[in-house]
Amino acid sequence: MASVEPQMRTMVALDLILKSLITSHDFQELPNKNWEAIARLIPGTTSGMVARRYEELLFNGEMFTFDHFDKNFGSSSGNLPISMSDPNLIAKSSLSRPDSGKGKGTRDDKDGIGGRDATAGKGYKDHGPVMVIHVCDEAKSLKQDFQCPRDLLVREMKYFAEYLSTDAQRWEEVDISVHCDVQIFDWLMKYVKRGTKEVSEKPRLEPNNVISILISSDFLKMDSLVQECIEYCHGNMSAIVATPCNMNCINDKLVGRISDLFTHNEADDIKDRKDKFKSKLFAKKIERLFEMDFNNPDSPENCSTLYRCSVCKKLLTKTLERKVKCSTSRMTVDKRGNLIYCHVRDPSFDVNEYMLELKSQLKNWRDVYWRLWGTVNYLTCSRCGETFMCNEYGHCKFHPEPPRYENSSSYASYIGTYPCCHQKTLRFDPTQQNKGCRVRDHVVNMISLNPENDNESEDSPPNKVYDDLLAHRDAVCVSYQRLTDASHGYNADKSDGPEKYEGF
Ligand SMILES: [Zn+2]
Ligand SMILES: [Zn+2]
Ligand SMILES: [Zn+2]
Repeated sequence: MASVEPQMRTMVALDLILKSLITSHDFQELPNKNWEAIARLIPGTTSGMVARRYEELLFNGEMFTFDHFDKNFGSSSGNLPISMSDPNLIAKSSLSRPDSGKGKGTRDDKDGIGGRDATAGKGYKDHGPVMVIHVCDEAKSLKQDFQCPRDLLVREMKYFAEYLSTDAQRWEEVDISVHCDVQIFDWLMKYVKRGTKEVSEKPRLEPNNVISILISSDFLKMDSLVQECIEYCHGNMSAIVATPCNMNCINDKLVGRISDLFTHNEADDIKDRKDKFKSKLFAKKIERLFEMDFNNPDSPENCSTLYRCSVCKKLLTKTLERKVKCSTSRMTVDKRGNLIYCHVRDPSFDVNEYMLELKSQLKNWRDVYWRLWGTVNYLTCSRCGETFMCNEYGHCKFHPEPPRYENSSSYASYIGTYPCCHQKTLRFDPTQQNKGCRVRDHVVNMISLNPENDNESEDSPPNKVYDDLLAHRDAVCVSYQRLTDASHGYNADKSDGPEKYEGF
């Protein structure tokens, strides 16, 4: 009574695969379905058989029949369409019935809908029957059986609750086989049974097991354990990456959840000599920078509106374009007589290309992150009065010597010359452009950043931006570059071309 005919196994395997295809919208939309390829997956089937069965399942909607097969599916029948990112762990329900028949329920329910009626579950009020889980550790060629009361198993490992029917009477017919590292599964079982007589002490997460446990618990849908693992990763990442564990199996969603726990400073502090995870964290943080609605305590501004101005070549966002001046050629006067600068969106700018360019230039995602962060976040300089992007922190322009005015009584006294660079200047320059010939660090006045000061109050605390800038200045800042060499005098600005850097 303990096994299923080979022919039936084949049908079970076929149904299982077809069932997942039926629920796949993409597959359903395919004009030409490759039955041949599916038949090759299941020894003993032909493409004709596969196509016929597909139609049957699709049009009969006989999911009950299918459910029945599902639970009796044989572990020897080849690949199940269940996989997870960790190739070491594949869970599946198994065909073999428990030898012992421990269950208290009746066994006559197998064929009819009647077996699925309301009596289901009534026999298992206490802890439910004990389930046997066969663990097959292929890497170590080990097999081990674990036992666990059904209710506990279903409550802790939601995967089984979803994958197997909630029909309690069927449970006693089901064995579960899991392909997994035996030690890891042993750990998981202890976790499931924590606080019971059998396991008084909760098993501990360690740097060398947390990643396997994270991946397994995520697959088995052990939500609270996944959260514990993620928090453990947050607290112990440097130790974890120092172990030989494989971090490549962590799926994107989990990387995102881990990454969100780290502030960018914490992520930066991870010691990860072989870069097993740090780049992944920062790549995720870059993704977040581009999310418009993501509330990011590390970055008051985001990159969602990033573009390049074709005139001044600066990278700007919706917020920055109003605060950062364009070249004088783009200067106009508004109704109230204020000077305004309108940047021009460069249609050839492609943000993805730009990212790849940055990556190849800076080599790693951590540096790309800081550069981007410094491109969209800004501060105001109390000396030159300009709003500057953090990556231009060292670009506060100045002349080392004051201008000299010819003769205080004549017309010419309005025009002066800087001895340092021979630039001409007006005593009252209407363009208010800073044309200093040297650069130094901007001055961020912490007093004006005080939240009591209304000017900046709506922004998140700018002193955090300033602190982060100072702590990561090497990665954030770009060096000052003159795109053309100093020209002579004030008039030169009027021919301000796109190649020309401001101020000369
Ligand atoms: Zn511009
Ligand atoms: Zn000068
Ligand atoms: Zn400045």
